[in-house]
Amino acid sequence: MLDIQNYIGGELIPPQSKAYLDNVEPATGQIYSRIPASDARDVERAVQAAEDAFAGWSRAPVEERSRILLRLADQIECRLDEFAHAESVDTGKPLSLARSVDIPRAVKNFRFFATAIMHFRSEAHATDYAALNYTLRRPRGVAGLISPWNLPLYLLSWKVAPAIAVGNTAVAKPSELTPMTAFKLSELAIDAGLPPGVLNIVHGTGPDVGEPIVLHEHVATISFTGGTATGSRIASKAAPMFKKLALELGGKNPNIVFADADLDEALEGSLRAAFANQGQVCLCGSRVFVERPVFETFLERFVAGARALKIGDPLDEHTQQGAVVSRAHFEKVMHYVELAREEGGEIQCGGGAPTDLPERCKDGFFVEPTVVTNLGVNCRTNQEEVFGPFVTVMPFESETQVVEYANATPYGLSASLWTQNLSRAHRVAEGLQSGTVWVNCWLLRDLRVPFGGMKQSGLGREGGEEALRFFTEPKNVCVQVPGLGGPSR
Ligand code: NAD
Repeated sequence: MLDIQNYIGGELIPPQSKAYLDNVEPATGQIYSRIPASDARDVERAVQAAEDAFAGWSRAPVEERSRILLRLADQIECRLDEFAHAESVDTGKPLSLARSVDIPRAVKNFRFFATAIMHFRSEAHATDYAALNYTLRRPRGVAGLISPWNLPLYLLSWKVAPAIAVGNTAVAKPSELTPMTAFKLSELAIDAGLPPGVLNIVHGTGPDVGEPIVLHEHVATISFTGGTATGSRIASKAAPMFKKLALELGGKNPNIVFADADLDEALEGSLRAAFANQGQVCLCGSRVFVERPVFETFLERFVAGARALKIGDPLDEHTQQGAVVSRAHFEKVMHYVELAREEGGEIQCGGGAPTDLPERCKDGFFVEPTVVTNLGVNCRTNQEEVFGPFVTVMPFESETQVVEYANATPYGLSASLWTQNLSRAHRVAEGLQSGTVWVNCWLLRDLRVPFGGMKQSGLGREGGEEALRFFTEPKNVCVQVPGLGGPSR
């Protein structure tokens, strides 16, 4: 059985504890590899390695940093099938999804930031008759990067790439549930010639590894993606230490279908938004609001679409719905099915584990795509993040009412709306309390745009210039220049 290793100071090494945690394949429920049970001692070593590497890396020419990151991207791309297979086995997501979305996006993340730094600029301000100001943006030192299990390499690389591209060094902690592609990335980083210590990856649990990273006095920057409760705990630890903090947290995203929408497109998009990656994308549209005149038609077709999704072995090319990530998560989703029933919900389809799985998957953690109606907007089922193939569908009467419904949660990550009325699209987009609004689409991503959440969905933004700015420290230099901007002689 494979023992995953930490990547510290350019080497693959075991944890100081010499202890390992089991890594389970969600589709089979079987242990298939082991993860280092690292602790604060490993974090200490990783931070030390990152500090040692900082002076050289932060002063390396931009072109050199860019070249190494581009090489890393090329190497992941060359091993696309191997990475996609590893991601699928580790998470339970369909292989086809890992191959078409997760791994290509990780490649894009490295390419995007490797080239973005070639064009990154800062500001200059001329103060009339007095001074010239210019702003330096310098890397901040060691960055702590903590990521979740739902899009393991995709989200890890979304942090690693900008952090190190601008000259920081990093200590990263992938989710203990899905460590495999991070481990493979560390092997490639060595091959790509990334100098030792620039990127360190420490595996283990949140309390044993994540928290020591957050608390380490030499880790000045923390970028976290995960659940809102964890984000709140991290904020409470990091704030008194005045760390720079970015939090990408949970969502309970509305998906709004107006009666004038192209119904075929809205249906296809809403099904994808509801069930992609078994509903385990922070951006999934888990509350579907449908305007009354098309409610019955939409619901009938939406339920038929959910029933038609092919659940099965994630490694089967035809599978559209794989397993959820763990037994604990399976139980959490089932708990919400029960809660929905208690709150008066009607289960239109799903609500249980499928019974016709292949033999290999009989002990896996599979949930049928589940659609629930007859719930009020304020019930717990409609307020709390389920993060599984579980969707509620509700009718609405007017534009004003649906904006109110959509905003009626503590979250504000993303929203989709489907309409052919252009003015309405802009009006509703303006009214939604949401970091991203998609009009007639879902998860159409341009890596240059700001990405993040409002309210309890997060703090700060990732993506494009936002990320380059987050991972750098601005310093303004004011040079007195008497007569600057005055009449020319
Ligand atoms: P989680 O909060 O349980 O864990 C996320 C990471 O934090 C893991 O690596 C975990 O080990 C670590 N961690 C746990 N406790 C910690 C602590 N005390 N200190 C430091 N680190 C700690 O989240 P999860 O279950 O892995 O991921 C699912 C959640 O992530 C969902 O809520 C989802 O919405 C959210 N998410 C958000 C985005 C976004 O961009 N906003 C993207 C993906 C997932």
